[in-house]
Amino acid sequence: MDALLTVVDRIGEKAATFGTSGNASARDPMNPDRFWITPSGLPWPDIQANHLVAMTIPGGQAAKGHLRPSSEWRLHLALYQHHPFVGGIVHLHSPYATILSTLHEPIRAVHYQMARVGDQVPVVPYFTFGSQELADAVSKAIHEQQRGLLLANHGLVAVGETIAEAWRAAEEMEWTAMIQYQASLLGKPHVLTSGQLDAVRRAFSDYGQRAD
Ligand code: 13P
Ligand code: ZN
Repeated sequence: MDALLTVVDRIGEKAATFGTSGNASARDPMNPDRFWITPSGLPWPDIQANHLVAMTIPGGQAAKGHLRPSSEWRLHLALYQHHPFVGGIVHLHSPYATILSTLHEPIRAVHYQMARVGDQVPVVPYFTFGSQELADAVSKAIHEQQRGLLLANHGLVAVGETIAEAWRAAEEMEWTAMIQYQASLLGKPHVLTSGQLDAVRRAFSDYGQRAD
């Protein structure tokens, strides 16, 4: 699970979430009915390959005798179970997304950078962390055109076809939340339209270097 460990390292290096909060997981590429998730309550810089916990879909912890999985395992399980396109998930208590989540204010398209995540990032109502209610609410709100959510008074969730894409979506959300917050101190930022965002998504599909 090298790609998951790379994201774990990034989260630790960037201190992208408060303390031991947040979690990440990736579907097993060799077995789509299984995923690997970070352990509960461990400092990000301390997480090693042998700390990752395997879980089955549906079901739960694949093998006993390992560390306890993230307390949000129900949320990760629900997303993998109900959304076959999801291959990776990142959950963070990153500062700017969390600020907007306390206001129940969506991340809006104040910059085109967040176009891949959705037309906006809506806020899921507040439920206790780790609860099945939170897992169900998140799973219901995610779809292929909605790859990120704010959790009221809690933080953000990002999904992707891979864990690397989920991490990119989380970074795009946090950065846009920061821009929205700062711009709101000076005035009322303009929000891009759905049509403008569709054009960005088309442009993104041909962005960067060609593979040939
Ligand atoms: P874990 O340390 O159990 O993953 O929980 C952190 C968290 O963010 C709960 O919402
Ligand atoms: Zn959390």
